Amino acid sequence: KRILAIETSCDETAASVIENGKIIRSNVVASQIESHKRFGGVVPEVASRHHVEQVTRIIEQALAEAEVRPDELDAVAVTEGPGLVGALLIGVHAAKAMAFAHGLPLIGVHHIAGHIYANQLVQPMQFPLMALVVSGGHTELIYMEQDGQFETIGMTRDDAVGEAYDKVARTLGLPYPGGPHIDRLAHTGSAEMDFPRSWLEPDSLDFSFSGLKSHVLNVVHNQKQRGEEPNIPNLAASFQESVIDVLVTKTRKAVDRYGVKQLVVAGGVAANKGLRSALEDEFSETMTLSIPPLPLCTDNAAMIGAAAFYQLEKQSFAGWDLNGRPGMDL
Ligand code: ATP
Ligand code: MG
Ligand code: FE
Repeated sequence: KRILAIETSCDETAASVIENGKIIRSNVVASQIESHKRFGGVVPEVASRHHVEQVTRIIEQALAEAEVRPDELDAVAVTEGPGLVGALLIGVHAAKAMAFAHGLPLIGVHHIAGHIYANQLVQPMQFPLMALVVSGGHTELIYMEQDGQFETIGMTRDDAVGEAYDKVARTLGLPYPGGPHIDRLAHTGSAEMDFPRSWLEPDSLDFSFSGLKSHVLNVVHNQKQRGEEPNIPNLAASFQESVIDVLVTKTRKAVDRYGVKQLVVAGGVAANKGLRSALEDEFSETMTLSIPPLPLCTDNAAMIGAAAFYQLEKQSFAGWDLNGRPGMDL
């Protein structure tokens, strides 16, 4: 069965054709990073306008690369939420138009379900599983007893980890988005600064990154006031070590508490080299660990097609009243 999937929740216009929830026939992503860079972050109105300009071409390209005609599709899937409302609406309307014109069922997908199901494109998901979701807007531990069942057992109380990366990067004078730059510099620096870890209550599986972010801001500010030149690689390495220590330790707790068969990692920050290798060291010998390759960690439509497949199997379709839901719950 073939699904055309569309993703426009933030600043990537993406379309993909996925077969049986796991085979990537095409995966096209048009990034808007260059347009948002000069503002140091995503400007919602600019994002919507780019999506309008790009979405038709990206869908056509996804079908062409897959060598699939619309009448060979079984459904059209689209990210319903969460995300920027104007951005979501472009994808939702494009999906409705495709579904209506070709008489196909329409499937609304939660963006984070998509990030998690990116793992299905790599190896079969084994339930029960634990998902560590680390992205620009989310930092969560999600327990999944079976397909389509999501129980959030830990989440950030303030900043998402990707958000903390981007804000710290801005303080360090690095371009947007800062995550990859901090990651790269962290490997050249030394984590000698012993930054704080926010463990919260002893058995809490929640996260908090705003204290660490403020700490980095203060250190840089104080160094500059004293006329010292901040050592950017060492700051990056120390920040990244604190983040990874907390993420790995809490994930270990969650995995042990729920006795899962598999750990899957999801979201843009799963592209982080330091985090990937720390998770491999901690988990790969004792359980099945799945971390998608980099292009499937950051926003893409293939993951939306993967998540839509179990909804297609259940015939869980959306109506023509499908709408963008910026604050959608999992
Ligand atoms: P959400 O998925 O929560 O709605 P989003 O879609 O904006 O948010 P993603 O596209 O999943 O987020 O991830 C983008 C984030 O990942 C950015 O904050 C970016 O800095 C971060 N990121 C990307 N690569 C790396 C890396 N190598 N190290 C750390 N962070 C990274
Ligand atoms: Mg993005
Ligand atoms: Fe995302």
